[in-house]
Amino acid sequence: DAKSSGKNQYELFHQDMHQDESKQMMLETYLRKALERNELYLVYHPIVDTESLEIVSVEALVRWKQKTLGDIPPSEFIPLAEETGLIVPLSEWIIQKACEDLNSIHVKGTKISMNINVSALHFNQDGFIKSLNEIFQKTNVSTRHIVLELTESMIMPNAVETVDKLVKLKQLGIKLSIDDFGTGYSSLSYLSRFPLDTLKIDQSFIKGIAMYKENSSIVEAIIMMAKRLNLNVVAEGVENKKQYERLKKEKCDYIQGYYITQPLPKHKLLALLHNWEGNNLI
Ligand code: C2E
Ligand code: MG
Ligand code: MG
Ligand code: MG
Repeated sequence: DAKSSGKNQYELFHQDMHQDESKQMMLETYLRKALERNELYLVYHPIVDTESLEIVSVEALVRWKQKTLGDIPPSEFIPLAEETGLIVPLSEWIIQKACEDLNSIHVKGTKISMNINVSALHFNQDGFIKSLNEIFQKTNVSTRHIVLELTESMIMPNAVETVDKLVKLKQLGIKLSIDDFGTGYSSLSYLSRFPLDTLKIDQSFIKGIAMYKENSSIVEAIIMMAKRLNLNVVAEGVENKKQYERLKKEKCDYIQGYYITQPLPKHKLLALLHNWEGNNLI
């Protein structure tokens, strides 16, 4: 059973459903109901200034606790939501919830920013900017504290239209970040043409920086390039002190990862912000 094998309900379901199609269909049915059943929630993952050790932002990450299957990872249901178009209401729910939570975090006195992941399908819809603006208006959120995380593959296919879209987004007062940098498109020319603020180095490059010369060379090169282009750099997936110290030495601006904490529900984040001094990292 689930307990003796150490697997949760979802993992067992995953294992049992050899036919991918029926698995997909079942998940799709469940996902349609997830929003109305309040099965989705957000957790927040701090982004820390490498020098001051201040928490400058948090990244909103969606979670799904399905009634019978339990926790289903976003790497499973985000692609499914994109295939079925469910991503648009889902994405709007995420953005609105993240804005509301940012407002309540600001009321408690900590003026951090909120990083929000954007889905490719939502981004490519004609109404994307309008729907985003509606949420900003409705929640009255401080847009200069909002950072949208985009991926390279999302913004590359339509480079000309994309510049236009990104400029319009910037006019809303928000910041733009490239997520999973280094894993996507091979052309780098967009980095100077697009109005970007931050690069997030993909965690696969951070893994070996304390051990493998190749990985640390890539990370050093990305940091240097970002500085030249006036972009801030976040290292994702920082799990230990060695990696943190290495990144600090290379003048990486911010770190994010399990070394600081796991992603936290809002009430735990508020407690962390309240007690945070960064001391445990030094
Ligand atoms: P991402 O945006 O690159 O998010 C970073 C992922 O790495 C998160 O996984 C986070 O929990 C994980 N992570 C952070 N630090 C560490 C670390 O030190 N070690 C390890 N091993 N992992 C770490 P998560 O939450 O499972 O999300 C996976 C992906 O799903 C995200 O990658 C993002 O692409 C997508 N996603 C998550 N939440 C949302 C959302 O609200 N909206 C959209 N559109 N996509 C989302
Ligand atoms: Mg992200
Ligand atoms: Mg990432
Ligand atoms: Mg990633």
